[in-house]
Amino acid sequence: MKKLFAIFGNPVSHSRSPIMHNCVFKNLNYNASYTRVHLLDGSKLRDTFFKLGLSGANITVPHKEAAYEACDEVRGFASTVGVVNTLINEDGKLIGYNTDADGFMYAIKEFEHIKNILVLGAGGTSKALVSRFLQENIKVTVVNRSKSRLSYFKDLNITSYTWENFKLSKYDLVVNTTSAGLKDENLPCPKDMINEILDSSSYVADVIYGKLTPFLHLAQKKNITYKDGADMLLGQGILANELFVNFELNKKDIKVQMAKSFLL
Ligand code: NDP
Repeated sequence: MKKLFAIFGNPVSHSRSPIMHNCVFKNLNYNASYTRVHLLDGSKLRDTFFKLGLSGANITVPHKEAAYEACDEVRGFASTVGVVNTLINEDGKLIGYNTDADGFMYAIKEFEHIKNILVLGAGGTSKALVSRFLQENIKVTVVNRSKSRLSYFKDLNITSYTWENFKLSKYDLVVNTTSAGLKDENLPCPKDMINEILDSSSYVADVIYGKLTPFLHLAQKKNITYKDGADMLLGQGILANELFVNFELNKKDIKVQMAKSFLL
C-alpha cells in the first residue's frame, strides 16, 4: 500500500521537505508520497496525523515541542531535549525522533577547530543544537530576545543572556537559530550587538535556508566564512528518510537523490 508522509508547520509553504523526500521516493521506486500541512494549533497535531492516515511526518517551526508532547514514545536524542522533528507511525503508536542536531553537525564538518559556539535563539532548534554541542564538549553560550526560554539552558549550567545583559566574548562559530529573517528582513538581535558579535567570530551559520538572511548578508559584507541551513536540511532529511523507509533503502542512494532535489 502507498504510504503518505507530510511536514507540519506554520508557515510551511517555504518548506523544501516535500520535494526532497518525493525525489527519493520517486527515483528509488519507493511506494510513497509526501505533502505539507499548514497547522495553526500544535495541540491538534496528533489528531491530524492519524486522520490523514500518515506513516510518518516532519515537524517544523513552531510545533517541535508540541510534537514531543504528542508522542507515545520518544527515542534517542529527542528524549534528551524534548524536541521532536520526525514522527513515525509504528503500529498505531506515535514514535518521536530528532534528526536536526545531527544534520547540523553534518553541515559544519568543513569548519575546523570549533570549540566555542554562540547560539542566537532559545527555541526548539537551539535546544537540540546546544545539547548536541555539549555532547561534543564544545563550550556554548546562548543569547535570546526574551528571558522566559532561558531557564532550560540555565539548568544545564550554560551561560545564557538576554539582549539586555549580554556580555561579548570570542567565538569560533555563531549560529542563528531564531526565525528572524525567515519571513521578514529582521536581524536576530539589535544591529550594534550583531556587529560586535560578528567581529568576534571566526565562522557563521544560519539554520534558515533558501535565502541570504540579513544576518548572513552582514557576515558576507564582513568577509566571514558562512553557510546557510541547506546542508543541515539535507543532513536531517537523509536521517528522517531512513526512518520513513525503515532503513530499507541505502543511505548513500538516499543522499544522492535528496541532494538532486536541491537543484530543482
Ligand atoms: P521556535 O519557534 O522554537 O523558536 C524561535 C526562536 O526565534 C525563539 O528563540 C525566538 O525568541 C526567536 N525569534 C523569533 N523571531 C525573532 C526575532 N524577530 N528576533 C529575534 N529572535 C526571534 O523555532 P524553531 O527553533 O523550531 O525554528 C527556528 C528556525 O530554524 C526556523 O527559521 C526554522 O525554519 C529553522 N530550521 C531549519 C532547519 C534546517 O534543516 N535548516 C531545521 C530546523 C529549523 P523569543 O523566545 O524571544 O520568542
